[in-house]
Amino acid sequence: MNTALLAERIDGKGFAATLVNQLTDEVNDIKAATGLTPGLAVVLVGEDPASSVYVSAKHRQTLAIGMQSFVHRLPADTAQADLMTLLDALNAANEVNGILVQLPLPAHLDTHAVINAIDPDKDVDGFHILNAGRLATGQDALVPCTPLGCLMMLKDRLGNLEGLNAVVVGKSNIVGKPMAQLLMAENCTVSVAHSKSRDVPALCRSADILVVAAGCPELVKGDWIKPGAVVIDVGINRIERDGRSRIVGDVAFDEAGHAAAITPVPGGVGPMTIACLLANTVTAFKRQHHHVTTKAVVAV
Ligand code: NAD
Repeated sequence: MNTALLAERIDGKGFAATLVNQLTDEVNDIKAATGLTPGLAVVLVGEDPASSVYVSAKHRQTLAIGMQSFVHRLPADTAQADLMTLLDALNAANEVNGILVQLPLPAHLDTHAVINAIDPDKDVDGFHILNAGRLATGQDALVPCTPLGCLMMLKDRLGNLEGLNAVVVGKSNIVGKPMAQLLMAENCTVSVAHSKSRDVPALCRSADILVVAAGCPELVKGDWIKPGAVVIDVGINRIERDGRSRIVGDVAFDEAGHAAAITPVPGGVGPMTIACLLANTVTAFKRQHHHVTTKAVVAV
């Protein structure tokens, strides 16, 4: 059944472009008010091709909104101690307001130790244990970019989320867990499904809001989706089909026509993730400079 034309397509690309325009204005206001330019440092260890593409995109977009970008590309065999020394220097640098270490790191590095070495107030990925704890306990946190972007699109589409049944498929620290925390903070009734859950299709059918971040191409079939649900597809999967390589999400998009709305892949969650990274860098700058009172573009 191909009913995809009926569901509203949530235009993440357009949404991200609007957010980026607002952030550009805000960066200009900050420069005028303080004489300072917010800066983002990105650290890449190794030469993973996908990571390298992401880092270049972050660099380009950071510069495009008028911020400073500092990219540190380190060899794959970088020692943990050398990476820690770089993070210490970035933590201390006044011109660096946000720090991001591109994941995954090479296997010899201790990812938790690296993330927790970032100053939590510069942790624009929101992965530091303090930010995770603040989010979980309803305190002011830097929130991971992908779920933050998902929440912004959900609130734009649905307004008040209170009381809605939300199902999150996937429980990673990067997407699933913080997504569930954010939805709980909106007073949704939240269920989290994962690879060991018993009846994932039945759970999904109960969802008014369905967020899927499993990393399994087209896992969620049409009959897993409740009519009228809003579906956010976080997955990015490269597959071969009809002799061509293509990117698909974790939801069988062509079977989701009875949803009220769905994010396409590509063009949905992906563009919002980088926009939210830029937003988090502006937020981090403002927290580090309490006197800056420009209007907040992103509030959760
Ligand atoms: P992960 O591998 O860390 O976690 C996957 C989660 O999905 C796990 O909790 C696992 O238990 C669950 N899962 C796997 N198979 C399942 C199944 N059959 N049924 C139910 N649950 C299942 O992945 P991640 O880092 O959270 O990323 C998930 C997906 O989102 C990937 O495709 C990734 O590329 C994509 N992603 C996209 C963005 C973006 O900006 N759009 C950002 C981050 C991740």
